Amino acid sequence: MAEHESLEFGKADFVLLDNVSMEEFMANLKLRFEKGRIYTYIGEVVVSVNPYRAMNIYGRDVIEQYKGRELYERPPHLFAIADAAYKAMKRRNKDTCIVISGESGAGKTEASKYIMQYIAAITNPNQRAEVERVKNMLLKSNCVLEAFGNAKTNRNDNSSRFGKYMDINFDFKGDPIGGHINNYLLEKSRVIFQQEGERSFHSFYQSCINDGADFKAVADAMKVIGFTGDEIQTVYKILATILHLGNLTFGVDGDVTLIENTKLVSVLRELLSTKEENVEKALLYRTVATGRDVIEKQHTTQEANYGRDALAKAMYERLFCWIVSRINDVIEVRNYDAKIHGKNTVIGVLDIYGFEIFQNNSFEQFCINYCNEKLQQLFIQLVLKQEQEEYQREGIPWKHIDYFNNQIIVDLVEQQHKGIFAVLDEACMNVGKVTDEVFLQGLNTKLAKHAHYTSRKLSPTDKSLEFDRDFRIRHYAGDVVYSVVGFIDKNKDTLFQDFKRLLYNSSNPVLKAMWPEGKLRITEVTKRPLTAATLFKNSMISLVENLASKEPYYVRCVKPNDVKSPLLFEHERCRHQVEYLGLLENVRVRRAGFANRQTYPRFLQRYKMISEFTWPNHDLPSDKEAVKRLLQGCGFDHDVAYGKTKVFIRTPRTLFSLEEQRAEMV
Ligand code: ADP
Ligand code: MG
Repeated sequence: MAEHESLEFGKADFVLLDNVSMEEFMANLKLRFEKGRIYTYIGEVVVSVNPYRAMNIYGRDVIEQYKGRELYERPPHLFAIADAAYKAMKRRNKDTCIVISGESGAGKTEASKYIMQYIAAITNPNQRAEVERVKNMLLKSNCVLEAFGNAKTNRNDNSSRFGKYMDINFDFKGDPIGGHINNYLLEKSRVIFQQEGERSFHSFYQSCINDGADFKAVADAMKVIGFTGDEIQTVYKILATILHLGNLTFGVDGDVTLIENTKLVSVLRELLSTKEENVEKALLYRTVATGRDVIEKQHTTQEANYGRDALAKAMYERLFCWIVSRINDVIEVRNYDAKIHGKNTVIGVLDIYGFEIFQNNSFEQFCINYCNEKLQQLFIQLVLKQEQEEYQREGIPWKHIDYFNNQIIVDLVEQQHKGIFAVLDEACMNVGKVTDEVFLQGLNTKLAKHAHYTSRKLSPTDKSLEFDRDFRIRHYAGDVVYSVVGFIDKNKDTLFQDFKRLLYNSSNPVLKAMWPEGKLRITEVTKRPLTAATLFKNSMISLVENLASKEPYYVRCVKPNDVKSPLLFEHERCRHQVEYLGLLENVRVRRAGFANRQTYPRFLQRYKMISEFTWPNHDLPSDKEAVKRLLQGCGFDHDVAYGKTKVFIRTPRTLFSLEEQRAEMV
């Protein structure tokens, strides 16, 4: 419960609302936004509203105000959460993570950058060279990742088109000594197609059109990170290749498919450092193994178009993953001693795509929304469910709070055999017809009775289901209609082996190294590659496992309007976000709950010096009795509850006073 703020700015913690209702919540959120107070707490959760204007609250002076302070001592801020995560990591030797969620344009990526800047600013007081190097790399890597992974969309001029989880490793002094980045599902279809008003990834415009100044900044950052001249050159050759592929067209002459603009082929040959006839062949034919024979099969123009687009997308995706892995090479914990000796703890920062509802929702939105279901489930597990279960376990009187548990939707998507991903994979493996319609039929058969699934076929009179190709999922955040068109192709994500071989056989070693699987001859390619859905599902499951093993901190970002205005607080738009982020439930649980809890021995260990009954040792029958005596003596008895193994402290203020008294004694 943050102090030092006058009430004219509203309540700094939603827990302090007189009544926990949507109206009061919204009134407080709006008032604070209008007063330029963009951060508000729910206990230890930060709710942030995108200000859409430069705020003078991230400077060195502000950093100093938050450094080493307790959460409730200063006005709500991202820095306070970053500091809390850092303190937990340093003092209690805990791995922590900061999960940033919210829809596109809500301010997640900006928040993640401020958090990293804060951590960089408060660490390494002794200016150790290796630590400075690591910090510099971590900050520089953002610039490169944004150039290749971000694009202008209708919602956000600098929208991240990939999910990012970054671990920062710390040594026993609490200084960053390395890091690791995981990237998730780059929206590679953007390479070949953009909605009206949107652009492809920034990198294309920086390399050749009109973002020249950014080009220099990115190239410099790549140099600093340690990309070699050859590597950087290869990066730009790949971008150029993709641009030229976009101009490549196919025609027919009789029953022969041919390339119309043949001049481009020699340009591609040059860029890819390969032979001209190889390029042409890979674009027009595919090698197929039929029994023991290997034959060259000519593409139809449709297949050739498909192959060209798949090549462009795959080259970009591979490039992006390669860039991430090169950054990881450079930032990974190097120091042998740091790895082997001493403790090595981690703060993870997750900046991942928020819930998306577009005019036309396809496979990508489906994956992104599934990801948000998983994160919501984690939030429920960690914040809501665990909390309630702990009170029950400890025998603390507790009023049950109702919230919607979205596990049923997570299961709908990921369950084995009958989940949507399973049905999709099954449709892709069909021996006969493999079409989007077959997939939709599979869904309709297997999920006809599911409360969160319907389709045009199952609900023919439903107005929101306009087309036969539509199905609808009732997500925790709202209903989304998906068009089944393209699911099969995007899931199979086929890239003809001939392209992989073409790139592997390049005489450019950097390019060759990106395509190791091109080494295989056609007869050696036996295993079906995992589908996009399966890969994504696996990566989400391991992400959530990883987060669940850490102590989580949350930043919940709200987007105030769709026009990037610093003045406009669109009530309905914000209310919807507050609703699906589950913020009211969060306040209720928090209010009914306790700010802090500790086992009795641990509590005594820390505070026994402030009471004559417990210092240096107590002679009471149990630690629980001793803690009771101590707290009665200090007059805090009314603000705590005594569980079976832990003492629960309601307000942070009490904890703060205990800390003060302790500081006076030691
Ligand atoms: P997201 O990652 O959630 O899609 P971003 O973090 O990219 O959203 O934010 C979108 C835009 O909103 C930014 O480019 C910036 O203009 C503005 N913005 C976000 N957070 C802040 C902030 N704290 N201060 C000022 N502007 C911000
Ligand atoms: Mg972003």
